Amino acid sequence: MEQGKKIILTGDRPTGRLHIGHYVGSLRRRVELQNSGEYDEIYIMIADAQALTDNADNPEKVRQNIIEVALDYLSAGLDPEKSNLFIQSQVTELTELTFYYMNLVTVQRLQRNPTVKQEMLLRGYSESGDGSDNKAGTPVGFFCYPISQASDITAFKATTVPVGEDQEPMIEQTREIVRKFNSVYGPALVEPEILLPDNAACLRLPGTDGKAKMSKSLGNCIYLSDSADEVRTKVRGMYTDPGHLQVSDPGKVEGNPVFTYLDAFCRPGHFDLFGDCFHGRKVSFDFHSLDEVKAQYRAGGLGDVMVKNFLAAVLNDTLEPMRERRRALEQDLPYVYEVLRRGTEAARAKAAGTLADVKRAMRINYFDPGVLEALIREQSEKYR
Ligand code: ATP
Ligand code: MG
Repeated sequence: MEQGKKIILTGDRPTGRLHIGHYVGSLRRRVELQNSGEYDEIYIMIADAQALTDNADNPEKVRQNIIEVALDYLSAGLDPEKSNLFIQSQVTELTELTFYYMNLVTVQRLQRNPTVKQEMLLRGYSESGDGSDNKAGTPVGFFCYPISQASDITAFKATTVPVGEDQEPMIEQTREIVRKFNSVYGPALVEPEILLPDNAACLRLPGTDGKAKMSKSLGNCIYLSDSADEVRTKVRGMYTDPGHLQVSDPGKVEGNPVFTYLDAFCRPGHFDLFGDCFHGRKVSFDFHSLDEVKAQYRAGGLGDVMVKNFLAAVLNDTLEPMRERRRALEQDLPYVYEVLRRGTEAARAKAAGTLADVKRAMRINYFDPGVLEALIREQSEKYR
């Protein structure tokens, strides 16, 4: 078997272009892991089937965003020579696994998933999370997406799933399914480990509006593909400490998304940018660390405009190389689709192997070589 292999599976829903929350929550880590050379196989999934669970009426949105996510992946540094980028719906083995895993999970267990509860509320499906109110109702496919995610992860025998904090309940659900499957049918599946960002600011990057999570569905995002001007405009409009009215007032860093973004993006080399942010105006600050910037903001005397200009410069410094790569890739869509086609082929081969293992363990592989003969022999005995 494949004992001891280190395998990554993770992905994104093609409901929009990727934003800086995706980047710090998962994408940046994936690129680092990919380049570490420590992983035997890497699968990166564009989760279009999952996106359809809450976009059934808008399939064109999902279809159009597959290329956007693929462009974001390649611009951010995912390398098709090292990582298989694939389209979920084309790996039909995943839906088959989901159908069998559904028998291993109760409705009540799904209802307790805190992320799904929150998302049902956000989408106006349900207030109570259990469907007992008069809201629009929850599509069954959406309700079951944690099970489908378990299929995605286990199909690749993934050991490591690098994701943001909102995915914790999904990984726990997957581990439960694996344990249940292996104990009922025999050991066929691998229990995955979640890999969360090690920087607390990146666990769940807030929105530009100060809301708890930057999310495509909430319209509070800075996209990886935003132009430098768009980044500056969005940062200028960001929520900060509402009590920080005058530059001389002491400011609050905690719960201030401008500082959370700096925590997530600022590197030592960035402090040289501070002086460049003020269009010729003299800046008397000479910061060498983010702690120094925070201390000055807390003490008073450092205005929001200055900190925001600094943040915009830091973000643009990070995003510019990605924007450049994206512009080139946008002119070569056949290449991007060829990457997806090849990645999907590899993903399919892997998932087919796991599905065969699963069916063998469940003894529903009736027509495999030798199996039918043994079955007929066994049953002939019964009728003798
Ligand atoms: P949607 O609103 O369609 O659910 P989303 O913005 O939540 O979109 P997903 O495709 O659901 O994005 O998430 C993809 C990955 O990005 C997951 O690993 C998730 O944990 C991570 N992620 C999403 N938003 C954030 C965020 N604000 N901070 C950190 N990680 C995030
Ligand atoms: Mg999401």
